[in-house]
Amino acid sequence: MTGQLAPTLDEPGEHPMHALIAAPVGDAHLLLRPGSPKAVKLGAAKFTELQSAVQAAEAVPSWLVDPVARSWGIDLTDRPAAGTVLVREAGPYEFSRATYEINLGCDFDCEHCYLGEKKFEGVDLAGKERLLLTLRDAGVIWLQITGGEPLIDPHFPFVYERAHELGMQVEILSNGSRLRTDRMFNLLAKYPPTKLSLSVYGASAETYDGLTRRRGAYERFTEGLSRAVGARLNVDMSLIITSRNAHEQGDMRQWAVDLGVPYREYANISPTIYGTGETLPTQSPEHLTQRAPFTGCPAGHTFFHVDPHGRASICKVGRDPSIDLLTEGVEGLARLGDIADSLMLRTGGCSGCTLSATCRVCRPMAKVFQEAKAPLQNYCQHGGTP
Ligand code: SF4
Ligand code: SF4
Repeated sequence: MTGQLAPTLDEPGEHPMHALIAAPVGDAHLLLRPGSPKAVKLGAAKFTELQSAVQAAEAVPSWLVDPVARSWGIDLTDRPAAGTVLVREAGPYEFSRATYEINLGCDFDCEHCYLGEKKFEGVDLAGKERLLLTLRDAGVIWLQITGGEPLIDPHFPFVYERAHELGMQVEILSNGSRLRTDRMFNLLAKYPPTKLSLSVYGASAETYDGLTRRRGAYERFTEGLSRAVGARLNVDMSLIITSRNAHEQGDMRQWAVDLGVPYREYANISPTIYGTGETLPTQSPEHLTQRAPFTGCPAGHTFFHVDPHGRASICKVGRDPSIDLLTEGVEGLARLGDIADSLMLRTGGCSGCTLSATCRVCRPMAKVFQEAKAPLQNYCQHGGTP
C-alpha cells in the first residue's frame, strides 16, 4: 500500500538527463525530446547508426545536428552520443502507450467522479519502480500518469523522474491542486511534461468549490494554473461540464482563451468503475454530446492501462480481465490482445436490438452504462430506439 515505504529519491535534478530519445515505434523510428510533443522521423538505418554511435562512445552523427537544431534549438555539434541520446529498445509486442493510475486517492470529492469511493491505495515504492521497468521493457514510450489525483501521491516525484530517466514521454492528468507548491512546480519546470492536462470544474469559487466539495479548491487551482502557464508548461484545460457548472461554460472557455491554452470539453459523465450510476444525475442533459461513432480502438493492442495495484487492462473502462504485471511481468501482456478482442464482442444488454448490425458503440463503454442501468440515450448511437 502507498506509504509503506518512504520515498528515498534524491531531489529532482540530481541526475543528468539525456537531451534526446531515439525510439522504435511500430515500423517507424522516432527522435523525441523529453517534454516536447514534437517528433522527428528517422529511417531504420539512421536509427542503427545512432545506436552504434552510443555503444561505441562516439560523437553524435553529423546528420543529426541540423534537424535537432531546427526542431528544438539545441546544438549537438561534437557532443558525445552516449549521455546525449537515450536509445530505446523495441518491446516484444506492439505497445507504445500506457496510462498509469498511480493511486485512486484524491483531495477533491467531485460529484461526478467515476472513481467512486477513491481508496488511497497502491503498490509501494519498490513495486512502482518495478512497474516502470516493466513498462519500459514492454516498449512504452508515451506514459500518461493519472489518478485519483496523481500529484498527492508521495511517490509521484520518484515515479515522474524515473519515467523520464527510462526514456518515456510523460503526460500528467491532474486537478492541479498541488501545482502551486514549490516542490511540485520545480519538478515539472525541471522536467516538463509533454502535456499537463488540467481538469476545470467552474469559473468561480462558489461553483468550483461546490462541485469539488472542497473549500479553497478554486483558489489553489487558479494559483497553480497561473504558475504552470507562466512557466510555459504544455497545459491543456479539460472543461468538465455538469448541471452544477453549465452556466459558467462560456466563462470557462473564455478563461482558456485568455490564457492562450488549448481546451476540450467533457459533458458526458460516466458511471463509476464499480458499475454504479450515482454519477449520472450530475449530467446536464442539454450539454450532452453525441459520442463519435466507434470505428475500432487500439486498446489492448498498442496501448494499455495499469491500475494502482499493477494490474494491466486494455483501458480505463474495460478493466476486466486484467493481468498482474508484478507477478507476470512483460510476458503477461501477450494476452491483452485476445482480451481486447473478446471484450469487443456484443454483450447481453443489447440483445433484441434490431439495429445491432449497424451499432457503432465501444462495447466496454456500453457495458459499464448497462451495468449502471443508465438510460440508452446516454450511450446508444441510435438514440436508444431499438
Ligand atoms: S479531481 Fe478527478 S479524481 Fe478527484 S474527485 Fe474530482 S473527478 Fe475524481
Ligand atoms: S472505452 Fe472503448 S474506445 Fe475507449 S479506450 Fe476503451 S475500448 Fe477504446
